[in-house]
Amino acid sequence: MNLQAILDDIVATLRPELGRSGKVADYIPALARVPADQFGIALRTADGQEVASGDSATPFSIQSVSKLFSLTLGVRALDEKLWERIGREPSGNPFNSLVQLEREQGVPRNPFINAGAIAVADRLLSVGDGLDDLLAFLRSLTGETITVDEEVAASEAATGFRNVALANFMKSFGKIDNDIPAVLDVYFRQCAIRMDCRQLARAAAFLCRDGVHPLQRTEVLGVRQARRINALMLTCGTYDAAGEFAFRIGLPCKSGVGGAIVAVVPDELTVCVWSPALDATGNSVLGMRALELFVARTGMSVF
Ligand code: GLN
Repeated sequence: MNLQAILDDIVATLRPELGRSGKVADYIPALARVPADQFGIALRTADGQEVASGDSATPFSIQSVSKLFSLTLGVRALDEKLWERIGREPSGNPFNSLVQLEREQGVPRNPFINAGAIAVADRLLSVGDGLDDLLAFLRSLTGETITVDEEVAASEAATGFRNVALANFMKSFGKIDNDIPAVLDVYFRQCAIRMDCRQLARAAAFLCRDGVHPLQRTEVLGVRQARRINALMLTCGTYDAAGEFAFRIGLPCKSGVGGAIVAVVPDELTVCVWSPALDATGNSVLGMRALELFVARTGMSVF
């Protein structure tokens, strides 16, 4: 299969659509300034071949895609114990919703909604160095320098009132151990990490390799743990659009409001698409279209 031709064709097909539909996330002021007319795609095969097209080397704010890597660190450090504080069910609600938390006693539905990722950040602070561990992990996975966009982090910290509410609400149920400002600092800064499509496809590669590190023979996760992360991506990785993603794409995916979506084809490859304009559920409009085209042209699906 000529993967380069497939990616180039997806870029050519979608380029005329750039800027036509969706809206760049504007509830985080620093993200509202990102030009919408950008599109990149990159993949890495299980045996290490890397293929890219479009704006695949343009860095962006990874936002909620960071939740994939913080969860991986949490599972590595705590394994089953992580699930004492976090559920594994799709929420069926927007990623920043507060409603279920009250009824469910401060236990977030899953680690990919904001409340769940804030709870994971709390756990990471209890077992290690929080953000420093996450950055070191991403550097190891990519073999490259990975940094935080401090302007985006400050912008989120200044306007993230819902996240402050979610953290305090969980704390009121005794479900957060560390100080709220410290936990939110990890969360806001992990969302503000800057990476490009190429780096994200590489960093996520352990998920298509039964947990084996992309660049080394070491284990990032055990086989069962890696499969479970893929299961969570399929059921919860794209918030209240997870059903639609499973229906239209049929791959485990994790999205972020920076416009990136990482998808896993188990045993085959990982792919990252990025285009900043989002639909109402916070998922990249052209990213989703690109993944549909990719699946149609390669026949790859978990179903
Ligand atoms: N930083 C964003 C927030 O907390 C992340 C949301 C997302 O990417 N879905 O709202």
